[in-house]
Amino acid sequence: MLYYKRFNKIGKLLFIILVFTVCSPNNERISKDIPKEARGKMVKINKTEKEWKEELTKEEYHVLREKGTERAFTGKYHDNKEKGIYYCAACGNPLFKSDAKFDSGTGWPSYYEPISTENVETEKDRSFFMVRTEVHCAKCGGHLGHIFNDGPKPTGLRYCINSVSLKFKPE
Ligand code: FE
Repeated sequence: MLYYKRFNKIGKLLFIILVFTVCSPNNERISKDIPKEARGKMVKINKTEKEWKEELTKEEYHVLREKGTERAFTGKYHDNKEKGIYYCAACGNPLFKSDAKFDSGTGWPSYYEPISTENVETEKDRSFFMVRTEVHCAKCGGHLGHIFNDGPKPTGLRYCINSVSLKFKPE
């Protein structure tokens, strides 16, 4: 009788665990059937600074990893008017479409919006006695540039980006 009671308790417990497992949302199981791009979760790249130093050119490393800025009008894309997509020079994450590019006259490629707000991340930057909003690649953390509120319609934003941080592929 005692054994039966104990078994009954364990049986109930197992039954509850089974129901909980079946009914609870199992995101991992669901996400395997959905393409990576549609999951809405950016798969982050974590490399050491040594690895980045080996992969990137000196200039790329300075801008992307040390948050440097290329000199205005010296980059390869500030005047680029071709149709295509701008990717992160470090990890290949798509960042901006040529449709969102505009001539800001600043000497840096400028866009009024990213390809997706999930592909870029922002952070407060208090360097050089200014408070600016830094923008970086959501996938690898590579520094891209800054965002300002003086852009054109429809967003009113200006993503001021270093050419060095980008790789353009024409359509
Ligand atoms: Fe990246």
